[in-house]
Amino acid sequence: MSNAQKAIEAHKDPNMTRKDRIDDSRILLFSMGVLQTGASCPDLHCDEWKITATEDEIDAFASVRGKGVDLVILHMPLDDSIDADLPNVLRRISPMPYLPVMIMSADSAEAQRCRFLNSGADDVIHEQTSAVEVRARVRAMLRIKDLYAQLDSSRKALELVLDREQKLLIRLRKDNKALEAKCTTDPLTHVRNVRSFGNILEHEFKSAKRYNTSLSILALDIDHFKVVNDTHGHHSGDYVLKELAVILTRSVRESDVVARTGGEEFCILLPKADQEQAVIFAERIRQEVSARKFTVFGEDIHVTVSIGQATFPDNAEITAPTMLTYFADQALLLAKDTGRDRVVKFSDMPREKRLRMRQQQLKAANASHGHWSGQCEMMDIEVHS
Ligand code: GH3
Ligand code: MG
Ligand code: MG
Repeated sequence: MSNAQKAIEAHKDPNMTRKDRIDDSRILLFSMGVLQTGASCPDLHCDEWKITATEDEIDAFASVRGKGVDLVILHMPLDDSIDADLPNVLRRISPMPYLPVMIMSADSAEAQRCRFLNSGADDVIHEQTSAVEVRARVRAMLRIKDLYAQLDSSRKALELVLDREQKLLIRLRKDNKALEAKCTTDPLTHVRNVRSFGNILEHEFKSAKRYNTSLSILALDIDHFKVVNDTHGHHSGDYVLKELAVILTRSVRESDVVARTGGEEFCILLPKADQEQAVIFAERIRQEVSARKFTVFGEDIHVTVSIGQATFPDNAEITAPTMLTYFADQALLLAKDTGRDRVVKFSDMPREKRLRMRQQQLKAANASHGHWSGQCEMMDIEVHS
């Protein structure tokens, strides 16, 4: 009886519990050129481990690649011409997470053992090794193979979880973005809403102050909009609001901010635009709106807008972001009072009135318990008439 057969017989030990056995493992005994060199191929057939024996290389490769082999015993000839990388090649073509490859050889000299191990073999056994030891080594190899299989299925499960988490994260980010857009955008016109505009204004004001740059604001209101609603209906009024928002958004630079700050009121923030530039821009908007025909349900609607302008630091009264909006609003009121469809600069207002408004603003700030602390400075200002 060959040693391999002895190993199989030992594996059938009736004292061994089923748990001790690694049943149903498929072992390929590949006797490479052994017959040609006159060596005998051990008979490894057994009921416990499924043994397939072959001497044909194509057969061996097909078994490893297709049928699923759990362990390969390469019965090596004493021949230098064998492919030194064969264990790795077999492992690469195997669909298993890890394919243990043992080499059984008649030459167990140290140099040969090292050569086999370096070629990718997991273990090297001599043909004359005792049956008990061969059995123990095969079982150890199968344990390692099982560990690899467990590791592989854990990795796949983890990948599934990670993939699911990744998809959840992407959805969460998308939802967050949509939520943020909802919180900062006016639902009708899709420009910024008041709250978002206020935050940006504070930020831009700080920046303008720190880097000593201009910051202009335009407060815009549609003239006699109530008449538009009354004459053409609320839907048509909505359409005009939406179209006006499009005009404004298309006209500004990327760094400018358009917001709907009331029913038919908009604010435009123009960072790094001084008074002159802001007024030129406001005038262009006014003329464009005035020349525009809004056609809704076959009816032409014509509207005009009034615009108030204020600029930091050109308007020396402005020492807080809320002053900027307040003074632009005051200029807008003046535009309304003086005929509508026009642009009014804050500096167009009488000097005494501007100073009075500033005092009112400061008083209001103090009354609100330093709400503006750090923004509204009680400093002396030089206001030109
Ligand atoms: P003024 O020139 O003084 O600004 O006159 P006005 O009619 O534009 O101003 P008023 O404040 O009297 O009326 C504003 C109108 O804007 C009344 C209101 O119904 C309308 N409005 C406010 N919000 C909306 C909206 O979302 N859609 C529509 N269609 N109309 C709106
Ligand atoms: Mg109006
Ligand atoms: Mg209004």
